[in-house]
Amino acid sequence: MKSYEKLLLENKAWAAEKVSDDSQYFERLAHIQTPEFLWIGCSDSRVPANEITGTQPGEIFVHRNVANLVVHTDVNLLSVLDYAVNHLKVKHVIVCGHYGCGGVKASMTNHNFNQVLNMWLRNIKDVYRLHRSELEAEQNEEKRFDRLVELNVIEQIQHLAKTSIIQKAWKHDQRPVLHGWVYGLKDGILNPVFRMDPGTHIDPLYEYDDL
Ligand SMILES: [Zn+2]
Repeated sequence: MKSYEKLLLENKAWAAEKVSDDSQYFERLAHIQTPEFLWIGCSDSRVPANEITGTQPGEIFVHRNVANLVVHTDVNLLSVLDYAVNHLKVKHVIVCGHYGCGGVKASMTNHNFNQVLNMWLRNIKDVYRLHRSELEAEQNEEKRFDRLVELNVIEQIQHLAKTSIIQKAWKHDQRPVLHGWVYGLKDGILNPVFRMDPGTHIDPLYEYDDL
């Protein structure tokens, strides 16, 4: 059997098991989704949002990209954010990075990954530059790498707060709470490193006054 054929077979078994546990399972999910959470995570195959949080289909709206970045010109990310905040009315947005992130590690090198990846990783190099003194005060390379993973998550949370989508929801609906978490590949534990509650003060330069 080919590897992808196994996926289709496993899917049939999974669907049958769900229906045997709860005959209305798919019927219910097909009609409505009311997730409380938007998850912005890394594409890394070892960090599956539902599995590590013990949640089921329908509970988390998910967007993933290399190194869990919030880039203010990324139409894909912004569409997901807009839909989650304004239509699904999520109460929490979680940016989840992970220790040992290959994207973050790559950004710490001078290697030329060519065109597109260079462009993407540039965003993480900018996080490094902003926090250069703290990072370079750390002599241990592993710890410096871990800290950049954390700082990257914190920076992405701040990018979310700079969007008019989040500012408008904060002003009119006092939600969502923004959470920055880092997942440990070695122990499976989520480490909360940063939180921004609705109405948190941000640099006035980025505040919109006509929301
Ligand atoms: Zn990663």
